[in-house]
Amino acid sequence: MSQDKYTVETITDVRPWTDSLFSFRTTRDRGYRFTPGQFARIGVRAHEDEAKDPLKSIVWRAYSIASAAHDEHLEFFSVVVPGGQFTSRLSKLKAGDELFVERKSYGFLTTDRFEAGRDLWMLATGTGLAPFLSILHDFHTWESYDNLILVQSVRTQQELAYEDLIRGFESSEYYAEFAHKLRYARIVTREPVPGALRDRVTKLLANGVLEENVGLKLDHDRSRIMLCGNPEMVEDSRRILVERGYRVSRRGDPGHLAVENYW
Ligand code: NAP
Repeated sequence: MSQDKYTVETITDVRPWTDSLFSFRTTRDRGYRFTPGQFARIGVRAHEDEAKDPLKSIVWRAYSIASAAHDEHLEFFSVVVPGGQFTSRLSKLKAGDELFVERKSYGFLTTDRFEAGRDLWMLATGTGLAPFLSILHDFHTWESYDNLILVQSVRTQQELAYEDLIRGFESSEYYAEFAHKLRYARIVTREPVPGALRDRVTKLLANGVLEENVGLKLDHDRSRIMLCGNPEMVEDSRRILVERGYRVSRRGDPGHLAVENYW
C-alpha cells in the first residue's frame, strides 16, 4: 500500500478484558472520517527488523471502530486469535507504539441503510459488539428511534466487556436524557449468570424468548435489525429473519436488516 493511503498513529491505551480479549486506543488523524458502524483497516509491522523496507512489512486487517465519530481518538476491540500472526502481534503492542490506519473507512453496518423505524435491534456476539458501541455514541441514533435494543452474546461473564459503559449511559451527562430508550440483553452461553440469558441468540430469536426478554416484538414496520459477530451467527440469524419476511438492505433499496461478518 502506498504511503499516502494511510497515516501513522500512536497507541495511547491498551485495556485487557481477559487473557484473549482486549481494547486499545490510538491517536486519530484530523482528516479521518467514518460513519458509526464502519470499520477501519489497521496495520502493524509484521517483523521488528524490517526497517529497510517498512511498507512491505505491514500486515493489514479490518477492525470495526468502537469509538464515537466525535471522539478525538479511535478505539478498537479485539480477540487474540490462537496462532494468528496479526492479533498476536497486536496484543503485544503498548502505549507509545505505532500503528497504521488506512485513510479510508469501510462497511455498510450503518443506520443510513434503513428507512426510519421505531426500534433498532443490535445483535452482537464477541467482539462484534464494537460497531454498536460507536452507533450508541451517535446522538442521531438516540433521536431517530424510540427504542435501542442491544444484545451482547459472550461465552463467559468475564467476556461481558463494556458492560459498565453500556449501563453508564443512564448516568452520563450527555446521554442520560435518552438512556430510558436502551434495552440491554446479555447472553452468557457457557456459565450461569444471574439476569443473563443462556441460550444462543439464534435459538432465542427463533423461539421468541429474546423478544419476550426484551419486552418488544419484532415487527416489519417498527424494527430495524443489525447483526455483527461470528459469521455463523450472522448467517443463521439472517436466515431466521429473512424467513420471517425481513429484507436485507441493499444500496438504494433500504430493508430491515444490515449485517457484518467479523472474520
Ligand atoms: P465466539 O465463539 O464467537 O462466541 C461468542 C458468542 O457467540 C458466544 O456466546 C457463542 O455461543 C456465540 N456463538 C458462536 N457461534 C454462534 C452461532 N453460530 N450462532 C449463535 N451464537 C453463536 O467467541 P469469540 O471469543 O468472539 O471468538 C471465538 C474465536 O473466533 C476466537 O478465539 C477467534 O479464533 C475467532 N475470531 C477470529 C477473528 C478474526 O479476526 N480472525 C475475530 C474474532 C474471533 P457458544 O458459547 O454457544 O459458542
